[in-house]
Amino acid sequence: MSADRCTYGTALGCARVLALVACGALACITSCAVAAAADAVSLPYSPGLDLKAMDRSVDPCTDLYTYACGGWQKANPIPPEQSSWDVYSKLAIEVRTFLKGILEQLAPVAASRSPEQQRIGDYFAACMNVDAVEAAGSAPLQGELARIAGLPDKRALGALLGALHTRTWGSGLLFASGVEQDARDASRMIASVDAGGLGLPDRDYYTKQDAKAREIRTRYRAHIARVMTLLGEPHAAAQADAMVVMRIETALAASSLTMVDKRDPYKVYHRSTLDELQKLAPELDWSAYFKASGLVAAPWLNVSELHFASELSAQLARESLEDLKTYLRWAVAASSSRYLSSGFVAEDFAFNHAYLLGTEVDQPRWQKCVAWVDRDLGEDLGREFVAREFPAATQAAALHMTEEIETAMRERIERLTWMTPETKAQALAKLAAVRNKIGYPRHWRDYSPLVIRRDDFFGNVQRAAEFESHREAAKIGRPVDRDEWEMTPQTVNAYYDPQLNDINFPAAVLLPPLFDARMDAAPNYGNTGGTIGHELTHGFDDSGRQYDGAGNLRNWWTPTDAKQFDERAQCVRDQYAAYTVVDDVKINSALTAGEDIADLGGELLAWMAWQADQEHKAAAADPAAKRDGLTESQRFFVGFAQWACGNVRPQRLRASAMVDPHSPPRYRINGVVSNMPEFAEAFHCRTGQALVKPASKRCVIW
Ligand SMILES: [Zn+2]
Repeated sequence: MSADRCTYGTALGCARVLALVACGALACITSCAVAAAADAVSLPYSPGLDLKAMDRSVDPCTDLYTYACGGWQKANPIPPEQSSWDVYSKLAIEVRTFLKGILEQLAPVAASRSPEQQRIGDYFAACMNVDAVEAAGSAPLQGELARIAGLPDKRALGALLGALHTRTWGSGLLFASGVEQDARDASRMIASVDAGGLGLPDRDYYTKQDAKAREIRTRYRAHIARVMTLLGEPHAAAQADAMVVMRIETALAASSLTMVDKRDPYKVYHRSTLDELQKLAPELDWSAYFKASGLVAAPWLNVSELHFASELSAQLARESLEDLKTYLRWAVAASSSRYLSSGFVAEDFAFNHAYLLGTEVDQPRWQKCVAWVDRDLGEDLGREFVAREFPAATQAAALHMTEEIETAMRERIERLTWMTPETKAQALAKLAAVRNKIGYPRHWRDYSPLVIRRDDFFGNVQRAAEFESHREAAKIGRPVDRDEWEMTPQTVNAYYDPQLNDINFPAAVLLPPLFDARMDAAPNYGNTGGTIGHELTHGFDDSGRQYDGAGNLRNWWTPTDAKQFDERAQCVRDQYAAYTVVDDVKINSALTAGEDIADLGGELLAWMAWQADQEHKAAAADPAAKRDGLTESQRFFVGFAQWACGNVRPQRLRASAMVDPHSPPRYRINGVVSNMPEFAEAFHCRTGQALVKPASKRCVIW
């Protein structure tokens, strides 16, 4: 272990840090922060290829994932406050710990704080002040509850929902709304009305009829009743209310599209005028809704699910005003529980995390507070993070690798045997139009209109939701901002946006062990090269391929090429459908197809880019030469597999199988390499071994 390596364990084990977690009062933060400032927090280092993470007793040709990650899995049991634990989430918590150090330094009132530092410091201080949160009880909700109670008739619902939606984080009350690029004209920002209003993670939780699904619904009803009791309702009334909520949510769920259907962009695009929406769903006063929410429905909007909108209207006609009020009371409390006093927090945890995901204890308060600063003031926090942890050299190196991956993609498209020149020209044009965004935004978001108070945590959360709603609404009718990011720089993740046609790599996803400047090229290409290739391939997966280079939903494929693509995508779907997630649950590969295609394409691109890289060419003079007992090619594949090392609780696996478009980590590794002859060659695998497919069975798209 080198001197500069500080492990996660030692960072958390520091007595001062533990004391800080244990106390929550503002006075305590202030005194601890002053002490903590003396030894600045630093990020721990884990190497980009971790030999200790491996289990060399396993044959990689049978199970590369366990060969590369078996040691990691043993050494990293799932912390009690997590439902899964992997290289990404561990790094995310390390980043969060690092950010906590920054926020503790900025929390005390000081004249030296910039306006940005003042906002994030005060937000964090207010959030950590659990005494004040506890003392407030359910009082912060009383204003909203009074407005719901005072609703005179159903016609007034439009205005009330418009206001509630702007102030509430979550999936929407009764339905959701937002702002998006018009799918048919990506240069235009429009409003959207979407399905929503559910308290369980997905509509399938309400519609499935197996024993487990029924058990979840029974437990959910009990959870609703307990929350209603916390609002002050007598036991019997709370039980009756839970039945009402369940009936309303079940009807919303039944008319909502499945997650698989929602992957089809044509199924969620219906350009409508406000008049058309009013005719489709006459029971809600949509003009009043739009006025109160600040959204503008001109010249048109997207009603993403027409059936949902008309059924919502029918439901509003059917349900009594009193029952609708009951639902709203519940929905406001459920979406706010996390920000209220301990009774609400404990009930929210017990159902949503302990029961549904298998988590043993709730996250410490500071982890939640850092996460909420990240959500509500993410780019103010991002300035601090980037200034400390994102050297220009990392940005340049990541950009260089991205350009190599794009060159590989260009060559692969040019060489495709199944695609006609016509469609190839379109694909190449789309590829050339991809924008690379690496690290952090060109312009930082201006949060100055957002009022943050040191003594009003709940108010800060509400005002932040309102600020975000208005910021989004203000985009309608303005040119698209192509420099905007959907993730903050301190997020350990990456994404492709089909309508902006850009790939985005936040600074924190370019940290070791994912991207490691101290490491040789092979594992870096296997890991981060694969991530870059993954995001780029999303532009060409079964969903992304339906958008053109300008971000418009437009069919640029000849019918023959589309058919050829579908056959190859079906190969991937068939392969992953055979994998078991947990117990009798198989991968729903219609849901995971886009990610599985991106995983496969990404690693093929990473391999090609690595082969072509000058540094690699120099190192590969002797392909049999070994480092740490591994050849260069083997280091590439171990580096690849180690991005996904992790452990997952069975409850979480079951929940993810319904809602997560990603396959479980093991298959994101083993499923990919079984299609790569380069892998079989690297480890001298024999025909017939588990991860060696015969050439005729291999899936290859891009
Ligand atoms: Zn992806």
